[in-house]
Amino acid sequence: MKSAIKHAQPQEAMDHNEAVLMQAAEKYVLGELSPALREEYEEHFFACVACALDVKAAAAFVDNACDVLQQRSVNTPE
Ligand SMILES: [Zn+2]
Repeated sequence: MKSAIKHAQPQEAMDHNEAVLMQAAEKYVLGELSPALREEYEEHFFACVACALDVKAAAAFVDNACDVLQQRSVNTPE
């Protein structure tokens, strides 16, 4: 009889659909994922081009948002 040990991996990488559904890219960039989910998602997007691009896009968006906010606060007189 074969054992099922190979299927009982303690940490399974996140499923792509799961990642999309939970908006993992945005949450990852915003630091809203729990440490366990962060690791699962990292494992997933290292191997998933679509999610890697999502993370890049989300990171760029957050960077832009920060720039805009900073410029606004700099340009706004008190
Ligand atoms: Zn993916």
